[in-house]
Order: sequence, then structure tokens, then C-alpha cells
Amino acid sequence: MKYGKRKMLIAGEWTEGSTGETFPTIDPATREVLAEVARGTAADIDQAVEAARRALHHPTWAGLPHAARGRLLYRIAALIRTHAEELAEMETLDCGKPLSQSRADMETAAQYFEYYAGVADKLFGTTIPISPQYFDYTVREPIGVTAHIVPWNFPLAIACRGVAPALAAGNTVVLKPAEQTPLTALRLGELAMEAGLPPGVLNIVPGFGHDAGAHLAGHPHINHVTFTGSVETGIAVMKAAANNVVPVTLELGGKSPNIVFADARFEDAIAGAMKAIFSNAGQVCSAGSRLLVQQEIHDRFVQELARRTATLRLGAGLEDPDLGPLVSEEQFQRVLHYIDLGKREGAQVVIGGEPATEGPLRQGFFVKPTLFDAVRSEMRIAQEEIFGPVLSILPFRDAEEAVAIANDVSYGLVAAIWTRDIGTAHRLAAQIKAGQIFINNYFGGGVATPFGGYKKSGFGREKGIEALQSYTQVKNVCVTLD
Ligand code: ADP
Repeated sequence: MKYGKRKMLIAGEWTEGSTGETFPTIDPATREVLAEVARGTAADIDQAVEAARRALHHPTWAGLPHAARGRLLYRIAALIRTHAEELAEMETLDCGKPLSQSRADMETAAQYFEYYAGVADKLFGTTIPISPQYFDYTVREPIGVTAHIVPWNFPLAIACRGVAPALAAGNTVVLKPAEQTPLTALRLGELAMEAGLPPGVLNIVPGFGHDAGAHLAGHPHINHVTFTGSVETGIAVMKAAANNVVPVTLELGGKSPNIVFADARFEDAIAGAMKAIFSNAGQVCSAGSRLLVQQEIHDRFVQELARRTATLRLGAGLEDPDLGPLVSEEQFQRVLHYIDLGKREGAQVVIGGEPATEGPLRQGFFVKPTLFDAVRSEMRIAQEEIFGPVLSILPFRDAEEAVAIANDVSYGLVAAIWTRDIGTAHRLAAQIKAGQIFINNYFGGGVATPFGGYKKSGFGREKGIEALQSYTQVKNVCVTLD
């Protein structure tokens, strides 16, 4: 076991948890056990929430000048950078993604802390003119104890996406990483302690969703939940939080359209389409999993995509291939099920369409990158999130039809438009129901740009200044002057 036994972080102490039970986390490329992780249960969540409540008003945190709070976050960012290579390797082993993609995730994780460190002393209210008799102002207060339930596809980056703004705004945190990928979040806990974050400000409880996760979402003493994951679980989290009238930020799935017009720069659009679906083996909420190609260039475009897809290298993440394994047996089976379904629905497999079993790949959860052509919008492979390296290709005639197809799903996370016509680009940007539009790029933006869904892709915004709305509450104070 490369990483041995891993404990949970509650009130600044590393503990084995109330039951002493552990669960294994595995390398999805080999199925080898990487670590035995302390299994957090309801009792541990109770303790973590209690620790966060105490820390919220403790002078070491609540009494800290805001600039000092910012400096603490800068120190965490610096430590992430110092340990980036170690963290990237750990992330790759735990979730399977190619090493260069994990390195990019560590860069993003550090950037979240840097970005919000800078905001910590720049969060201020307004004064509101009412009449000469009154002085009225607003203040932005922390919302309290924030819960963060994180998925397995960007384990550390998504954890930091929520934790950094929550801390910058003066909240205290209980973080539950996904059971498949708890390692980097726990390492973040060590780095945060090393940076000098007071005990209880950041608590990290690994455990299972139905157990630790559900208890955290419904805990009466948390004040906000940030959840990233499936729609089904998002609904459960929202219901649990509703019982306590606790707001939620939900970033759920997607079935995002990547729309290529005939006048697009061909090479850029091809490279964009490959990146959109094959990054992290398609296990990305904002993956471009529906490729809409204008009829005139459809055949040439698909042919070139297939040619490039055939050259992609699969392998263990540490070899830095183009695609690593899927994260788990469950995800592997789910993707294969969808591939089967696509075939039965009458879509045409251009390339791939099966597990990859050559040599050492047999030991892991590898699926060949797959292109489905002749997909119709009503097919389930055009409607449902597959979360794997499986692209559904749909032809379209004109802009009107492209918009109709783009909006014909229950999701609305992102969309991309490839065209040289600036009018078409902006018209579609207005007409497509999605929280983020990429024009002539895919995955544009960064830690500073707001991210979140329309429709069943969720609500609330993460990243950028926008995210701070969730982690503060506004108080209005009205003072009589005479
Ligand atoms: P997936 O099905 O892809 O694993 P989930 O949405 O179920 O995605 O998981 C995302 C995160 O939500 C994980 O940290 C998981 O442990 C957690 N989770 C799963 N079920 C629940 C639940 N009922 N309540 C709260 N959290 C949950």
C-alpha cells in the first residue's frame, strides 16, 4: 500500500474516527489498493460540524484581520505549489487521470487559493442613501459552517473551488471527499495545518455518500451545502438541506453541445472537439459530449476525428497517456452499458465501442475512445450523461436547428460554438440555455469566471467573485440619525 493508513481531520487532530473502520481506495489502472482510509460515519460528521461551529467564533479565526486571513490562504496556495508534483502523482494514482492533467489540476487548486486569498480583505458592503434621517449600510457576513460534498473526477480542484472562497469569506468548513478519491483532500488538510489554519476551521471527513454524505447534507448545524455530482444525488442533498432551510449550491451533470459550423477554423474545431470529450476520459461535468456538426462538413469532420481518435494512447495515468482508466468498476460498467445502448438504439459506431483489454490494460477500467455517428436527439445516448470517452455526433442544417438540438436536453451546463461569423456566435450564445458559452474554444475561462448550470445542471455559481454570494450573507443596518 503506497499510502498506508489515512486518518480524518477533525478539530485540528488526525483521528481514526468513531468506529475505527477503514475503506480501501484503489488505483483504477491496476486495481491495487493505495491506502486504507478512515471511514467517517454520522458520529464523525457530528464532531466535525461541532468543531467547525466552535472555530467559527473562536478569536483565532473570527478575530483574525481579513488581510491575515488572506495571507493564510496564500500560504496554503504556496504549499500546494511546493507539493504539486507529489499531489499530482497521488491524484493520478487515485482517480486514474493522465499525469499532465493532474498537474494542471494542482495548478488550478493553487490558483483558487490565490484568487480568493486576494479577495479576503476586499469583501465589503455598500451604503444606501434613503433620507437625511437615516444612515443605511450593508455588511457581508460569513454564512457559518459550510459543507462541501465533492466528486471523484477533479478531487482536489473541486474541493478547493468551494473551500477557498468559503474560507476567504470567514466561514468554517466540513469537507467530504468522494469515497473513490479521498487522498489529495486529506493531504490538503495536512498542508492547511502546516500553513497555520486554526484547528476546526477546515475539517475533512472521508466516507461514503449514503452515510457520511447524507448525514452532512441534512445536519441541522450546517449553514450552506456545496455539492458537485449527479442530478439524483443533488436532489437528495437539496431535500436534506431543505429540512433545515439551508441554501445549496448544486453543480450537477451536463450533456453539453459542441457546435461546429461549416465556416469554423477546421483544425481548431477538431482539436477542440477531441479535448472536449477525451479530457479525463470524458469524466468531466462540462465535457462536450454532443458534437453538432453542420451538414456540409460533417463527413470530412467525422473522418478526421476518427483518424485522430485512432492514434490516442491509453495507459496508466503515471505514463501520461492521452486517456487513463475510468475511475471505478461501477463507472466502467456504466459506460459500457451506454455504449451497448447506443448500438441498440441504432447509432453508428465509427471507432471504439468496447473496453480496451490489450496487455496491462486488462487489469484496469479502460474503455476505448468511442465515436457514435448518426445519433438522433431523442436517443438516450444524446440525452443522458455517460461520463466516459463516448461522443454522440449529430448533424445539423442551420443555426436554428443547431439551437433546437442544443436546447433539447434537460441539462444546461456549458456549450461551445465554432464559427467565424461573429453574429452567429453571439446570437447562439444568447439562445442557448447554458451557464457558460465557449466561442471558438472549449473549457475556456478559469478560476475567475463564474461557473454553474441552467436547468438540471444545477444552480448557484462557483468560481470568480460570483461564488462569494453563496458564502456570505448580507445584513442591512439602518440607523436613525436624529
Ligand atoms: P457518482 O454517482 O458519480 O459517484 P454522486 O453524485 O453519487 O456521483 O457522488 C458525488 C458525491 O456525493 C460523493 O462525495 C458521494 O459520496 C456523495 N454522495 C452520494 N450520495 C449521497 C447522499 N445521498 N447524500 C450526500 N452525499 C452523497
